Amino acid sequence: MSETGELKASRLVRDVPDFPKPGILFKDITPVVQDYEALKEVTLKLAEWAREKGVEAVVGIEARGFIFGAPVALELGVGFVPLRKLGKLPYNCIAEEYALEYGTNTVEIHSDSLHPGQKVVIIDDLLATGGTAAASARLVERLGAVVVGFGFLVELAFLDGRKVLSAYDIHALLSYD
Ligand code: AMP
Repeated sequence: MSETGELKASRLVRDVPDFPKPGILFKDITPVVQDYEALKEVTLKLAEWAREKGVEAVVGIEARGFIFGAPVALELGVGFVPLRKLGKLPYNCIAEEYALEYGTNTVEIHSDSLHPGQKVVIIDDLLATGGTAAASARLVERLGAVVVGFGFLVELAFLDGRKVLSAYDIHALLSYD
């Protein structure tokens, strides 16, 4: 694991082997958000990075992207837009499907949640293969908004998610090789 500077969060991310299925090493961020100082540190670091980009809205990816995205939006003084799994948002939506190892997944966003030209950062807890993030960017761009970056607490660098997102600025506070 590498990081720039010592973050309290780096000591709190918990490895849970074989969750949600055998062979997956799950990076559990709940101990980070249970700790006020660590939660604040992560929020301020992501907000500091996003502020320089002139961000006008924060999009958070369900579900753990909500936990970090909403406080980052508050810190920046902009609104928060939830991007959710199929069937969860109540109003008119647009949808994007993406491939998983087995099968597909679909994410949605409210059609009126962003406007053309609006500068957006997309926040999630963790970057793995980049499939979820890439589908999220397609949704934001279909609404005419501009993805100025992706912010993550954790990046699993060995899964090469950055390659899928090579057109974008990626900011991850912790990276695991
Ligand atoms: P991906 O689309 O492969 O980049 O997967 C990213 C999404 O899956 C994020 O929303 C993560 O929360 C979740 N995820 C994938 N792999 C892990 C992992 N090893 N530990 C925790 N969450 C994960």
